[in-house]
Amino acid sequence: MSPDVIVVGAGAIGSSIAYQLAKAGLKVMVFERGQVGGEATGASAGMIQRHHGRDTTPAFAALAEESARLFPALADELRDRTGTDIGYRSAGRLQVAFSESDERALRAERAWEADRGAVVPWLDAAAVQVAEPAVNTAVRGAIYHADEYQLLPLAFAQTLARAAADLGAVVREGAAIDHLRIESERVVGVELTGESVLAGEVVIANGSWAGAWSHALGVSIPVRPARGQMVALRTPRTALRTVISAAAGYALTKPDGVTLVGTTVEDAGFDSRPTAAAIGALLASAAQLAPRLADATVVGAWAGLRPRTPDGMPLIGRVGAREGVILATGHFRQGILLAPITGELVADLVLGRRPRLPLDTFDPTRFLVRAA
Ligand SMILES: Cc1cc2nc3c(=O)[nH]c(=O)nc-3n(C[C@H](O)[C@H](O)[C@H](O)COP(=O)(O)OP(=O)(O)OC[C@H]3O[C@@H](n4cnc5c(N)ncnc54)[C@H](O)[C@@H]3O)c2cc1C
Repeated sequence: MSPDVIVVGAGAIGSSIAYQLAKAGLKVMVFERGQVGGEATGASAGMIQRHHGRDTTPAFAALAEESARLFPALADELRDRTGTDIGYRSAGRLQVAFSESDERALRAERAWEADRGAVVPWLDAAAVQVAEPAVNTAVRGAIYHADEYQLLPLAFAQTLARAAADLGAVVREGAAIDHLRIESERVVGVELTGESVLAGEVVIANGSWAGAWSHALGVSIPVRPARGQMVALRTPRTALRTVISAAAGYALTKPDGVTLVGTTVEDAGFDSRPTAAAIGALLASAAQLAPRLADATVVGAWAGLRPRTPDGMPLIGRVGAREGVILATGHFRQGILLAPITGELVADLVLGRRPRLPLDTFDPTRFLVRAA
Protein backbone atom coordinates (compact mmCIF):
# COMPACT_ATOMS: atom_id res chain seq x y z
CA MET A 1 0.00 0.00 0.00
CA SER A 2 1.30 3.51 -0.80
CA PRO A 3 2.47 5.56 2.17
CA ASP A 4 0.96 8.97 2.94
CA VAL A 5 4.43 10.48 3.12
CA ILE A 6 7.87 9.52 1.85
CA VAL A 7 10.91 10.96 3.65
CA VAL A 8 14.16 10.99 1.66
CA GLY A 9 17.18 10.80 4.00
CA ALA A 10 17.42 9.63 7.61
CA GLY A 11 19.83 11.95 9.35
CA ALA A 12 18.63 13.79 12.43
CA ILE A 13 16.31 15.89 10.26
CA GLY A 14 14.62 13.10 8.26
CA SER A 15 14.35 10.87 11.34
CA SER A 16 12.75 13.62 13.39
CA ILE A 17 10.27 14.36 10.62
CA ALA A 18 9.44 10.67 10.24
CA TYR A 19 8.85 10.36 13.98
CA GLN A 20 6.51 13.37 14.16
CA LEU A 21 4.54 12.22 11.12
CA ALA A 22 4.23 8.65 12.43
CA LYS A 23 3.13 10.04 15.80
CA ALA A 24 0.44 12.01 14.01
CA GLY A 25 -0.90 8.71 12.63
CA LEU A 26 0.36 8.99 9.05
CA LYS A 27 1.77 6.08 7.05
CA VAL A 28 5.42 6.99 6.56
CA MET A 29 8.16 5.44 4.48
CA VAL A 30 11.76 6.57 4.94
CA PHE A 31 14.46 5.92 2.35
CA GLU A 32 18.05 6.19 3.53
CA ARG A 33 20.86 5.61 1.05
CA GLY A 34 23.29 4.42 3.72
CA GLN A 35 22.50 3.97 7.39
CA VAL A 36 20.35 6.06 9.70
CA GLY A 37 22.51 8.94 10.99
CA GLY A 38 25.47 7.76 8.93
CA GLU A 39 26.45 11.13 7.41
CA ALA A 40 26.62 14.63 8.96
CA THR A 41 24.47 13.59 11.90
CA GLY A 42 26.75 10.81 13.10
CA ALA A 43 29.82 13.03 12.56
CA SER A 44 28.56 15.84 14.76
CA ALA A 45 29.46 16.86 18.29
CA GLY A 46 25.85 16.77 19.46
CA MET A 47 25.91 20.11 21.26
CA ILE A 48 22.58 21.73 21.93
CA GLN A 49 23.68 25.35 21.90
CA ARG A 50 21.32 28.11 22.91
CA HIS A 51 23.70 31.01 22.35
CA HIS A 52 24.78 31.71 18.79
CA GLY A 53 26.44 35.08 18.98
CA ARG A 54 25.89 38.48 17.55
CA ASP A 55 25.24 37.40 13.98
CA THR A 56 22.05 35.59 14.97
CA THR A 57 18.85 36.85 13.37
CA PRO A 58 15.66 37.01 15.48
CA ALA A 59 14.02 34.33 13.29
CA PHE A 60 16.91 31.92 13.76
CA ALA A 61 17.07 32.66 17.49
CA ALA A 62 13.35 31.87 17.82
CA LEU A 63 13.75 28.62 15.87
CA ALA A 64 16.75 27.53 17.95
CA GLU A 65 15.14 28.49 21.24
CA GLU A 66 11.93 26.63 20.46
CA SER A 67 13.87 23.53 19.41
CA ALA A 68 16.04 23.63 22.55
CA ARG A 69 12.85 23.92 24.61
CA LEU A 70 11.44 20.74 23.01
CA PHE A 71 14.45 18.56 23.90
CA PRO A 72 13.85 17.53 27.53
CA ALA A 73 10.36 16.17 26.84
CA LEU A 74 11.50 14.55 23.59
CA ALA A 75 14.42 12.79 25.32
CA ASP A 76 12.02 11.44 27.98
CA GLU A 77 9.46 10.44 25.37
CA LEU A 78 12.07 8.54 23.34
CA ARG A 79 13.31 6.75 26.45
CA ASP A 80 9.76 5.76 27.39
CA ARG A 81 8.98 4.50 23.90
CA THR A 82 12.23 2.69 23.09
CA GLY A 83 14.16 2.26 26.35
CA THR A 84 17.12 4.12 24.78
CA ASP A 85 18.93 6.98 26.48
CA ILE A 86 20.04 9.49 23.81
CA GLY A 87 22.57 10.96 26.25
CA TYR A 88 20.78 14.28 26.64
CA ARG A 89 22.74 15.95 29.46
CA SER A 90 23.44 19.39 30.82
CA ALA A 91 26.76 20.63 29.41
CA GLY A 92 27.63 24.19 30.38
CA ARG A 93 29.92 25.84 27.84
CA LEU A 94 32.94 27.98 28.66
CA GLN A 95 33.94 30.33 25.87
CA VAL A 96 37.49 31.01 26.93
CA ALA A 97 39.82 33.93 26.23
CA PHE A 98 43.58 33.43 25.96
CA SER A 99 44.47 36.86 24.56
CA GLU A 100 43.44 40.45 25.09
CA SER A 101 41.56 40.47 21.78
CA ASP A 102 39.72 37.22 22.69
CA GLU A 103 38.68 38.89 25.92
CA ARG A 104 37.48 42.05 24.18
CA ALA A 105 35.40 39.96 21.75
CA LEU A 106 33.86 37.86 24.52
CA ARG A 107 33.03 40.87 26.67
CA ALA A 108 31.31 42.47 23.66
CA GLU A 109 29.42 39.21 23.12
CA ARG A 110 28.33 39.21 26.74
CA ALA A 111 27.13 42.82 26.54
CA TRP A 112 25.10 41.92 23.45
CA GLU A 113 23.54 38.94 25.30
CA ALA A 114 22.79 41.15 28.31
CA ASP A 115 20.95 43.64 26.05
CA ARG A 116 18.68 40.73 25.11
CA GLY A 117 18.05 39.84 28.74
CA ALA A 118 20.35 36.79 28.90
CA VAL A 119 22.39 36.36 32.05
CA VAL A 120 25.84 35.25 30.89
CA PRO A 121 28.40 35.47 33.68
CA TRP A 122 32.00 36.52 33.10
CA LEU A 123 34.38 34.24 35.01
CA ASP A 124 37.86 35.41 35.87
CA ALA A 125 40.81 33.01 35.47
CA ALA A 126 40.44 31.54 38.97
CA ALA A 127 36.71 30.96 38.54
CA VAL A 128 37.29 29.30 35.16
CA GLN A 129 39.70 26.86 36.82
CA VAL A 130 37.06 26.02 39.42
CA ALA A 131 34.39 25.45 36.76
CA GLU A 132 36.75 23.33 34.62
CA PRO A 133 40.00 22.24 36.28
CA ALA A 134 41.35 20.88 32.99
CA VAL A 135 41.41 24.25 31.25
CA ASN A 136 44.80 25.74 30.31
CA THR A 137 46.12 27.92 33.17
CA ALA A 138 46.97 30.57 30.56
CA VAL A 139 43.25 31.39 30.40
CA ARG A 140 42.37 35.06 31.07
CA GLY A 141 38.66 34.52 31.64
CA ALA A 142 35.55 33.11 30.02
CA ILE A 143 31.87 33.60 29.50
CA TYR A 144 29.82 30.73 30.77
CA HIS A 145 26.63 29.40 29.21
CA ALA A 146 25.13 27.28 31.97
CA ASP A 147 21.90 26.53 30.11
CA GLU A 148 23.32 24.39 27.30
CA TYR A 149 23.12 20.64 26.73
CA GLN A 150 24.56 17.84 24.64
CA LEU A 151 23.50 14.39 23.44
CA LEU A 152 24.77 11.41 21.45
CA PRO A 153 23.81 12.40 17.89
CA LEU A 154 23.93 8.98 16.27
CA ALA A 155 21.83 7.47 19.07
CA PHE A 156 19.44 10.42 18.72
CA ALA A 157 18.77 9.79 15.01
CA GLN A 158 18.64 6.01 15.41
CA THR A 159 16.22 6.29 18.33
CA LEU A 160 13.95 8.68 16.44
CA ALA A 161 13.91 6.26 13.51
CA ARG A 162 13.21 3.32 15.79
CA ALA A 163 10.40 5.16 17.55
CA ALA A 164 8.94 6.03 14.15
CA ALA A 165 9.20 2.36 13.10
CA ASP A 166 7.49 1.27 16.33
CA LEU A 167 4.64 3.57 15.32
CA GLY A 168 4.37 1.85 11.95
CA ALA A 169 6.83 3.78 9.77
CA VAL A 170 8.86 1.72 7.30
CA VAL A 171 12.54 2.71 7.47
CA ARG A 172 14.60 1.36 4.59
CA GLU A 173 18.36 1.62 4.86
CA GLY A 174 20.62 1.06 1.86
CA ALA A 175 17.86 2.48 -0.34
CA ALA A 176 18.96 5.44 -2.47
CA ILE A 177 16.35 7.53 -4.23
CA ASP A 178 17.46 8.08 -7.82
CA HIS A 179 14.63 10.28 -9.07
CA LEU A 180 11.55 12.12 -7.95
CA ARG A 181 8.48 11.03 -9.83
CA ILE A 182 6.67 14.06 -11.20
CA GLU A 183 3.33 14.05 -12.98
CA SER A 184 1.56 17.19 -14.20
CA GLU A 185 3.84 19.42 -12.13
CA ARG A 186 3.12 17.45 -8.95
CA VAL A 187 5.61 15.26 -7.12
CA VAL A 188 3.79 11.96 -6.73
CA GLY A 189 6.54 9.67 -5.47
CA VAL A 190 10.10 8.47 -5.83
CA GLU A 191 12.06 6.05 -7.93
CA LEU A 192 14.86 3.76 -6.90
CA THR A 193 16.50 0.92 -8.72
CA GLY A 194 13.78 -1.28 -10.13
CA GLU A 195 11.10 0.28 -8.01
CA SER A 196 8.69 3.17 -7.98
CA VAL A 197 6.86 4.22 -4.79
CA LEU A 198 3.96 6.67 -4.80
CA ALA A 199 2.91 8.89 -1.91
CA GLY A 200 0.70 11.88 -1.19
CA GLU A 201 3.71 13.93 -0.14
CA VAL A 202 7.51 13.65 -0.47
CA VAL A 203 9.74 15.30 2.13
CA ILE A 204 13.29 15.92 0.95
CA ALA A 205 15.64 15.70 3.94
CA ASN A 206 18.81 14.42 2.38
CA GLY A 207 21.13 17.06 3.80
CA SER A 208 24.07 18.16 1.65
CA TRP A 209 22.80 16.14 -1.30
CA ALA A 210 19.48 18.00 -1.66
CA GLY A 211 20.85 20.27 -4.39
CA ALA A 212 20.63 17.30 -6.75
CA TRP A 213 16.86 17.79 -6.98
CA SER A 214 17.14 21.35 -8.34
CA HIS A 215 16.75 20.34 -11.96
CA ALA A 216 13.81 18.00 -11.37
CA LEU A 217 11.97 20.59 -9.30
CA GLY A 218 12.81 23.48 -11.60
CA VAL A 219 14.16 25.64 -8.76
CA SER A 220 17.64 26.17 -7.44
CA ILE A 221 18.21 24.37 -4.14
CA PRO A 222 21.42 26.13 -3.10
CA VAL A 223 22.75 23.62 -0.58
CA ARG A 224 26.48 22.93 -0.55
CA PRO A 225 28.51 20.62 1.70
CA ALA A 226 30.69 22.29 4.35
CA ARG A 227 33.14 19.73 5.66
CA GLY A 228 33.70 19.52 9.40
CA GLN A 229 36.41 17.35 10.94
CA MET A 230 36.58 15.81 14.37
CA VAL A 231 39.07 13.89 16.51
CA ALA A 232 37.99 11.52 19.27
CA LEU A 233 40.21 11.02 22.33
CA ARG A 234 40.20 8.85 25.41
CA THR A 235 41.92 10.26 28.44
CA PRO A 236 43.35 8.22 31.27
CA ARG A 237 42.17 10.98 33.64
CA THR A 238 38.76 12.38 34.44
CA ALA A 239 36.57 13.73 31.72
CA LEU A 240 36.00 17.41 30.97
CA ARG A 241 33.20 18.83 33.09
CA THR A 242 32.19 21.52 30.63
CA VAL A 243 32.40 22.20 26.94
CA ILE A 244 35.50 24.35 26.40
CA SER A 245 35.41 26.49 23.29
CA ALA A 246 37.72 29.10 21.82
CA ALA A 247 38.26 30.69 18.44
CA ALA A 248 40.40 27.71 17.27
CA GLY A 249 38.03 24.94 18.30
CA TYR A 250 36.18 23.16 21.08
CA ALA A 251 36.46 20.08 23.26
CA LEU A 252 33.81 18.19 25.19
CA THR A 253 33.46 14.80 26.82
CA LYS A 254 30.48 12.78 25.67
CA PRO A 255 28.28 10.71 27.97
CA ASP A 256 30.09 7.59 26.68
CA GLY A 257 33.44 8.91 27.99
CA VAL A 258 34.94 9.90 24.62
CA THR A 259 36.30 13.44 24.35
CA LEU A 260 35.61 15.10 21.00
CA VAL A 261 37.72 17.88 19.57
CA GLY A 262 36.37 19.93 16.67
CA THR A 263 36.15 21.34 14.16
CA THR A 264 36.77 22.81 10.72
CA VAL A 265 34.42 24.49 8.24
CA GLU A 266 35.80 23.70 4.79
CA ASP A 267 34.65 23.91 1.23
CA ALA A 268 35.88 20.51 0.00
CA GLY A 269 32.98 19.45 -2.19
CA PHE A 270 31.69 15.99 -1.35
CA ASP A 271 35.08 14.84 -0.08
CA SER A 272 34.37 13.58 3.44
CA ARG A 273 37.85 12.34 4.28
CA PRO A 274 39.52 13.52 7.46
CA THR A 275 42.87 15.09 6.50
CA ALA A 276 46.25 15.03 8.21
CA ALA A 277 46.53 18.83 8.27
CA ALA A 278 43.16 19.41 9.92
CA ILE A 279 43.58 16.59 12.42
CA GLY A 280 47.02 17.98 13.35
CA ALA A 281 45.52 21.43 13.90
CA LEU A 282 42.66 20.03 15.98
CA LEU A 283 45.07 18.09 18.19
CA ALA A 284 47.12 21.27 18.71
CA SER A 285 43.96 23.17 19.62
CA ALA A 286 42.97 20.42 22.09
CA ALA A 287 46.31 20.73 23.87
CA GLN A 288 45.89 24.50 24.02
CA LEU A 289 42.37 24.31 25.48
CA ALA A 290 43.18 21.61 28.02
CA PRO A 291 46.89 20.63 28.13
CA ARG A 292 46.27 17.20 29.59
CA LEU A 293 44.52 16.21 26.35
CA ALA A 294 48.00 16.11 24.78
CA ASP A 295 48.46 12.81 26.64
CA ALA A 296 45.16 11.28 25.48
CA THR A 297 44.82 8.29 23.18
CA VAL A 298 43.48 9.10 19.71
CA VAL A 299 40.58 6.71 19.16
CA GLY A 300 39.11 8.12 15.97
CA ALA A 301 39.02 10.87 13.39
CA TRP A 302 36.30 11.60 10.86
CA ALA A 303 34.64 14.26 8.79
CA GLY A 304 31.03 15.07 7.96
CA LEU A 305 29.36 17.23 5.33
CA ARG A 306 27.12 19.89 6.82
CA PRO A 307 24.37 21.15 4.52
CA ARG A 308 25.05 24.88 4.09
CA THR A 309 22.95 27.52 2.31
CA PRO A 310 24.17 30.92 1.08
CA ASP A 311 22.70 32.73 4.12
CA GLY A 312 23.42 29.95 6.62
CA MET A 313 19.70 29.46 7.35
CA PRO A 314 17.83 26.21 6.80
CA LEU A 315 15.38 25.60 3.97
CA ILE A 316 12.08 24.49 5.48
CA GLY A 317 8.87 24.62 3.49
CA ARG A 318 7.13 23.96 0.23
CA VAL A 319 9.00 24.41 -3.00
CA GLY A 320 7.15 27.31 -4.60
CA ALA A 321 4.10 26.27 -6.57
CA ARG A 322 5.29 22.68 -6.91
CA GLU A 323 2.79 20.44 -5.15
CA GLY A 324 3.47 17.27 -3.22
CA VAL A 325 6.95 18.17 -2.00
CA ILE A 326 8.45 19.77 1.11
CA LEU A 327 12.10 20.61 1.65
CA ALA A 328 13.88 20.33 5.02
CA THR A 329 17.61 20.81 4.76
CA GLY A 330 20.39 23.39 5.04
CA HIS A 331 20.69 23.19 8.84
CA PHE A 332 24.45 23.76 8.55
CA ARG A 333 26.09 23.80 12.02
CA GLN A 334 22.89 23.36 14.05
CA GLY A 335 21.02 20.42 12.58
CA ILE A 336 21.02 18.39 15.79
CA LEU A 337 19.73 21.34 17.78
CA LEU A 338 17.11 22.12 15.12
CA ALA A 339 15.88 18.56 14.51
CA PRO A 340 12.96 18.62 16.99
CA ILE A 341 11.45 21.88 15.72
CA THR A 342 12.02 20.90 12.09
CA GLY A 343 10.12 17.65 12.69
CA GLU A 344 7.20 19.57 14.21
CA LEU A 345 7.14 22.25 11.50
CA VAL A 346 7.17 19.76 8.65
CA ALA A 347 4.39 17.78 10.36
CA ASP A 348 2.39 21.03 10.56
CA LEU A 349 2.88 21.60 6.82
CA VAL A 350 1.96 18.03 5.86
CA LEU A 351 -1.15 18.10 8.06
CA GLY A 352 -2.21 21.53 6.77
CA ARG A 353 -1.84 23.10 10.22
CA ARG A 354 -0.56 26.62 10.73
CA PRO A 355 3.16 26.21 11.54
CA ARG A 356 3.95 27.09 15.13
CA LEU A 357 6.61 29.58 13.97
CA PRO A 358 6.60 31.82 10.89
CA LEU A 359 8.57 30.17 8.10
CA ASP A 360 9.23 33.14 5.78
CA THR A 361 12.92 33.38 6.72
CA PHE A 362 13.38 29.68 5.91
CA ASP A 363 11.33 29.66 2.69
CA PRO A 364 13.25 27.45 0.21
CA THR A 365 12.49 29.88 -2.63
CA ARG A 366 13.79 32.99 -0.85
CA PHE A 367 16.91 33.17 -3.00
CA LEU A 368 14.81 33.25 -6.17
CA VAL A 369 12.66 36.05 -4.74
CA ARG A 370 15.74 38.13 -3.95
CA ALA A 371 17.21 37.56 -7.37
CA ALA A 372 14.01 38.72 -9.10
C1 LIG B 1 32.02 17.93 12.70
C2 LIG B 1 30.60 18.37 12.86
C3 LIG B 1 30.14 18.82 14.11
C4 LIG B 1 28.82 19.22 14.28
N1 LIG B 1 28.39 19.57 15.53
C5 LIG B 1 27.08 19.92 15.70
C6 LIG B 1 26.59 20.21 17.01
O1 LIG B 1 27.33 20.14 17.99
N2 LIG B 1 25.28 20.56 17.14
C7 LIG B 1 24.44 20.64 16.06
O2 LIG B 1 23.26 20.99 16.25
N3 LIG B 1 24.88 20.35 14.81
C8 LIG B 1 26.16 19.99 14.61
N4 LIG B 1 26.63 19.70 13.36
C9 LIG B 1 25.73 19.89 12.21
C10 LIG B 1 24.78 18.71 12.08
O3 LIG B 1 25.50 17.51 12.14
C11 LIG B 1 24.02 18.81 10.75
O4 LIG B 1 23.41 20.08 10.63
C12 LIG B 1 22.92 17.74 10.71
O5 LIG B 1 23.45 16.48 10.97
C13 LIG B 1 22.21 17.75 9.35
O6 LIG B 1 21.29 16.69 9.41
P1 LIG B 1 20.61 16.16 8.10
O7 LIG B 1 19.68 15.08 8.50
O8 LIG B 1 20.06 17.32 7.31
O9 LIG B 1 21.83 15.62 7.20
P2 LIG B 1 22.58 14.19 7.24
O10 LIG B 1 22.83 13.75 8.62
O11 LIG B 1 23.74 14.32 6.33
O12 LIG B 1 21.50 13.22 6.65
C14 LIG B 1 21.13 13.22 5.28
C15 LIG B 1 20.92 11.75 4.90
O13 LIG B 1 20.39 11.69 3.57
C16 LIG B 1 20.91 10.50 2.98
N5 LIG B 1 20.79 10.62 1.52
C17 LIG B 1 21.47 11.43 0.68
N6 LIG B 1 21.04 11.28 -0.58
C18 LIG B 1 20.07 10.32 -0.54
C19 LIG B 1 19.26 9.73 -1.54
N7 LIG B 1 19.35 10.09 -2.83
N8 LIG B 1 18.38 8.78 -1.17
C20 LIG B 1 18.26 8.40 0.14
N9 LIG B 1 19.03 8.95 1.13
C21 LIG B 1 19.91 9.90 0.78
C22 LIG B 1 22.35 10.45 3.45
O14 LIG B 1 22.87 9.14 3.36
C23 LIG B 1 22.22 10.97 4.88
O15 LIG B 1 22.14 9.92 5.85
C24 LIG B 1 27.93 19.23 13.16
C25 LIG B 1 28.37 18.75 11.93
C26 LIG B 1 29.69 18.31 11.77
C27 LIG B 1 30.13 17.77 10.45
